[in-house]
Amino acid sequence: MMDFGEQTIIASNESKGIVNAVRDVFDGKKMETNPTKELLNLSIGDPTFFGNLPVHQVMKEAVKEAVDSDNFNGYGPAHGLLCARQTVAKHYTTPEAPLTDDDIIITCGCSGALDSCFTVLGEPGQNILVPVPVYPLDSCVAASRGLTIKCYQLSPDRQWEADVDKMDQLIDKDTVAIVVVNPSNPCGSVYSKQHLLDILAVAEKHSLPIIADEIYNDLVYKGQHSYPIATLSKNVPILSCGGIGKKYLVPGWRVGWILIHDRHDRFKKEVVPSLIKVSRKSLGITTLVQAALPKILDTVPKSYYENTMSLVEANANIAYGELSVVGGLTPVMPSGALYMMVGVELSKFPHINTTVEFMEKLMAEESVFILCGECFLSPGFIRLVLLMPSEKMKESCHRIREFSYRHYEV
Ligand SMILES: *Cc1c(COP(=O)(O)O)cnc(C)c1O
Repeated sequence: MMDFGEQTIIASNESKGIVNAVRDVFDGKKMETNPTKELLNLSIGDPTFFGNLPVHQVMKEAVKEAVDSDNFNGYGPAHGLLCARQTVAKHYTTPEAPLTDDDIIITCGCSGALDSCFTVLGEPGQNILVPVPVYPLDSCVAASRGLTIKCYQLSPDRQWEADVDKMDQLIDKDTVAIVVVNPSNPCGSVYSKQHLLDILAVAEKHSLPIIADEIYNDLVYKGQHSYPIATLSKNVPILSCGGIGKKYLVPGWRVGWILIHDRHDRFKKEVVPSLIKVSRKSLGITTLVQAALPKILDTVPKSYYENTMSLVEANANIAYGELSVVGGLTPVMPSGALYMMVGVELSKFPHINTTVEFMEKLMAEESVFILCGECFLSPGFIRLVLLMPSEKMKESCHRIREFSYRHYEV
């Protein structure tokens, strides 16, 4: 018999290449809290975390009905049940960017959608443009495919818009797509129509497709509007990724999708069949939530997610009000999604060298848990999640303020 002995079983280079900026920051780190203070966690973008945002009754009923029907215990098509694809098409079609069920791929969350898009569009050694501050999963998925990320910087002074000239200059013969995250995690920004048109012009000039991460579409503050980028172009082929996790407050239900906005049949011959082939790797996702999707999208009222966004906006106002008066801190007021970025002028905090240290010390002294910008490849910032009950949000900001006063030196 073969002796396994001490021999290590080798993992593939592909799997070892998977990087995750958040994990990298926390690797081996033991985050101490202050035992005399209740932990206030502003680090997790999971709307179920505090229990203050209940799941809509209709959604629970819809899943229960799917279970009780006994019709959804078998395999469905790998790229999604017809009823799920039809309902997504119906809800996301617009006159400018029409969709039928053939244009929809159901995926394991929006992250599954991104994984499929990167896999189909990119070959190892090629590159993809991503925004920085980055959504960490983008760099993770790119690395797992052997794709290099080329970062285009978003500017906090211009509500986190991209510099499109610099974006243009990053593109080379090996660039396969431009990723646009709007509304943004981690920035909370919502692009204007004009800015999206400017990005589309760059894509069009280079004949590049866009991968639009639009999981926060519609999740905007009062008076704001988020444009699905596909509604603004007749020429740029776009894969729009989304899902129910954030808008319907059930990230654990793992339903996402790709909306295929083909233009001049540029996706038709290769990309669409390949997206379907990629979905076959997993034989599809759970049928039960897919079966519930028509009822969820048809019946849950707009007020459900508007209610979430009222809380987020109220929290943004609290955080902005509390922190904009603190020396060394520059909160950037968001317009959507669930987050706010705060600039930290490290030169004003002589005993804090990096925003990683800012995060650790804030946790150790105040038991307030935020994520440092390093998690998003953006040192010099911290990110706050704006989902907690407003009383706790206020308390968190008071503690951040106390902490900052204590460490601030002119
Ligand atoms: C949360 C999030 C995702 C992942 O969505 P899932 O449906 O949970 O996979 C993708 N993109 C962004 C920008 C997100 O914030």
